[in-house]
Amino acid sequence: MTTEQINKEVEKRRTFAIISHPDAGKTTLTEKLLLFGGAIRLAGTVKGRKAAKFATSDWMEIEKQRGISVTSSVMQFDYSGKRINILDTPGHQDFSEDTYRTLTAADSAVMLIDSAKGVEAQTKKLFQVCRMRGIPIFTFINKLDREGRDPFDLMEELEEVLGIRSYPMNWPIGQGRALKGVYDRRQSRIELFNGDDHSTISVEDVKGYDDPLVEKVAGEHLYKQLREELELLEVAGDAFDMEKVSRGELTPVFFGSAVNNFGVQTFLDNFLKLAPPPTPRKSETGVVTPEEPKFSGYVFKIQANMNPAHRDRIAFLRIVSGKFERGMSVKHVRVGKEIKLSQPQQFLAQDRDIVEDAYPGDIIGLFDPGIFRIGDTLAEKSDITFNELPVFSPEIFAKVVVKNALKHKQYQKGIDQLTEEGTIQVFRTIGFEDTILGVVGQLQFEVFEYRMKHEYGVDVALQRQPFQFARWVVGEHVDPTKFRVNSILCHDKNDNYVALFESEYAMRTAIERNEKLQFLETAP
Ligand code: GDP
Repeated sequence: MTTEQINKEVEKRRTFAIISHPDAGKTTLTEKLLLFGGAIRLAGTVKGRKAAKFATSDWMEIEKQRGISVTSSVMQFDYSGKRINILDTPGHQDFSEDTYRTLTAADSAVMLIDSAKGVEAQTKKLFQVCRMRGIPIFTFINKLDREGRDPFDLMEELEEVLGIRSYPMNWPIGQGRALKGVYDRRQSRIELFNGDDHSTISVEDVKGYDDPLVEKVAGEHLYKQLREELELLEVAGDAFDMEKVSRGELTPVFFGSAVNNFGVQTFLDNFLKLAPPPTPRKSETGVVTPEEPKFSGYVFKIQANMNPAHRDRIAFLRIVSGKFERGMSVKHVRVGKEIKLSQPQQFLAQDRDIVEDAYPGDIIGLFDPGIFRIGDTLAEKSDITFNELPVFSPEIFAKVVVKNALKHKQYQKGIDQLTEEGTIQVFRTIGFEDTILGVVGQLQFEVFEYRMKHEYGVDVALQRQPFQFARWVVGEHVDPTKFRVNSILCHDKNDNYVALFESEYAMRTAIERNEKLQFLETAP
């Protein structure tokens, strides 16, 4: 395959994640997007998944058996000459470190916000990971058919809470019951929301907002308001600046209503124009671009026991460069061995199809008999190692107690394997040698307990600890006695120092008292 052919495939691809707080409408939006790709079968699958969530007890059982985030998968569809990969970031009870890691496989993000609620906690956390990576972020403000907050208020919140400037691509004409439609600022047209009959949504070209048609549609009162607001945006709002969008400093904002399929197509069309094709990734020996003809990729997630009948694991690999072909041999760089990729899977919601070939931006699932770890690099005739996967700071902590001391060997094996899979992070307290687990979501603890019992035969008890933050401590002369007030000093699995803090105040105090040390949010 020539570089030119690979380039053509790369140019076609868009790989992104939707970030939001539960109930903002992510399932609904995903479903509508899939429908545009003609993937109706998949849309049904998304719904099925959702319905299954409510049967909490069954769902928990399945989730535990399968490891964490069985619902987080990759959906691929074609639309308007593009091949689109949506990375599903688990956002409900199964929120975990996996959610953060999945974001490293995305080239851009869509931030979905409920117009009545604004920026919520989980959105904020996910946004911060996107910000750290400097990827473009597009905003969809949903549920315009309900009484929501003032659009200016919402923009101000994006700026104040997230520190990102915004550029409204369209602007609501009324809201809730009074919603008439949106005015498309970029393409100078109006999209009409036809009241009760939501199915017929029409689009009319206009000559700016002075066009009499706009006034006719809006009615006198709303039109006056719309004019004032649009004028204010022109005078006081940010200009559209593609460079800033690319760096994730300015977010294009779209208003709409996912459930009514209102504004979704406009969003998708614009998103596909503005979002980047697969972007380069950093390796220890420099940046690797997608056009590089040799195949390479990295594992960003490992999912255990997808099929309870076989205890297999699936390693999710983001392709960074070159072309993947089924049966090809690649180097598993960490272990220094050639392996043959003969059983690759692609994930279309819950279905598994065998992939014959794939390109940068695509995600493939590799059958994993236990040889992969999070962050592993696979590369064709090369020794590159990607370093795209930071270890994120956990937010919940518990001390582990083994109920049967005789099981110590299995316990250690379980701890090692589950740490490798990225299910948990393990810290040892200095002096006492207690084992403290750190996770991002509560479900990770439950999965840990369940799998220790069922896969390793070890009963463990978890005692919640009052810590809320972890910081990796780097520098000379780290003194454990300085971490005794509402904090504790530990080692991570690589013997790095990590301090756990009970409060932000405790953390700030420690930082002030240890001026010569660095406190990092991700592992060094
Ligand atoms: P998720 O938790 O983010 O996946 O959210 P869902 O897609 O399940 O949506 C949560 C609820 O909001 C559901 O009852 C949806 O029907 C509803 N919903 C989604 N989009 C809209 C919208 O545009 N308007 C209104 N009124 N409800 C919506």
